[in-house]
Amino acid sequence: MMSTVGLAAKRSVLDADPGELEGWMAERGYRAYHARQVIRWIFERRADRFEVMSDLAKRLREALEAEWSLFATKVALHHVSPDGTDKLLLECPDGRRVECVLMAEDARRTVCVSTQVGCGMGCVFCASGLKGVERNLTRGEIVEQVVRLRNLLPEGERLTNLVVMGMGESLANLDNLIPALDRICSVEGLGMGQRRVTISTVGLPEKMRKLAAIDRQYNLAVSLHAPTEALRDKLVPINKKVGLRAVVDAADHYFRSSGRRVTFEYVLLRGINDGEGEAKALADLLEAKKAHANLIPYNPVEGLPFERPKAEAVRRFEAILRGRGVSVSIRKTKGREIDAACGQLRRRAETAEGVADPQDLVMAIGSPPS
Ligand code: SF4
Repeated sequence: MMSTVGLAAKRSVLDADPGELEGWMAERGYRAYHARQVIRWIFERRADRFEVMSDLAKRLREALEAEWSLFATKVALHHVSPDGTDKLLLECPDGRRVECVLMAEDARRTVCVSTQVGCGMGCVFCASGLKGVERNLTRGEIVEQVVRLRNLLPEGERLTNLVVMGMGESLANLDNLIPALDRICSVEGLGMGQRRVTISTVGLPEKMRKLAAIDRQYNLAVSLHAPTEALRDKLVPINKKVGLRAVVDAADHYFRSSGRRVTFEYVLLRGINDGEGEAKALADLLEAKKAHANLIPYNPVEGLPFERPKAEAVRRFEAILRGRGVSVSIRKTKGREIDAACGQLRRRAETAEGVADPQDLVMAIGSPPS
């Protein structure tokens, strides 16, 4: 698991600062525009190795191959659910693994990416936090998740949305996340609109204010999961340090600064936070705001004692919020068959439970056009 592979010694193109590859080219007597050609091959032409970059001299391609990696990660597993959801388990150069998901619904093609290996927030119902946080992902490792998933789409199809809701607490890795998103949203990257990007956080007020200050148009989703301090302290342990009130205040601040309506995520756990009392308390918290509540019926995790709520409880919860004028939706579960709840694919692969034969499940990413 922790073995270091050869790629670790090479510099990663997607981790490099804009200009770093140009500098490398200049030192070797190559023109700067060759660096832009490499970037275009990755983002526009879906190249996954230097060899196919046919408009670069063979000598340059070989020099690049010797010192740079196009993708620092490799695909350890590729699961496809019957509903068409793709989930990749990517292995980083240090052997650590992260997961990311591509979901298709009508015209939407949404990717969900991770920002950390593991998670240090310890939400009691979540598979990702079971072993704590191991490290932050680099910006290149974040960008690669998006590019690899985009490369699964048929030629000509584009990603429409990006949600940063995979493994890890996004805002705990803000310093790598923002450059990664900037690259994805840049014209030289995938050209995705900032308003198509949603960053999820468990609610770190200081970081939420920092995000508000950097003047982007990203949407913010705050994982609330409980409408009272006492219940949130139990479900989301970090709440004991930050407090529900401070989280909601920081969300209000984000809305005032960015003009983007904040979404409050609420995982419904049977018999724990899905009752009428909690619905009314959540309505008290949200009814005066221009905010949205997204209810997520829990996806059970093996080994954890939480259950999916009854359909009737979900409907009642939604009706109470709607009746109080709160904008509300229920998230459809995509890819349940392939463990799309965050952290589950990685966990199963590690414990060898539920995966019949990894070889059966690994699929090669298609070759790029030459
Ligand atoms: S729910 Fe999110 S913040 Fe909480 S432990 Fe899981 S990954 Fe971390």
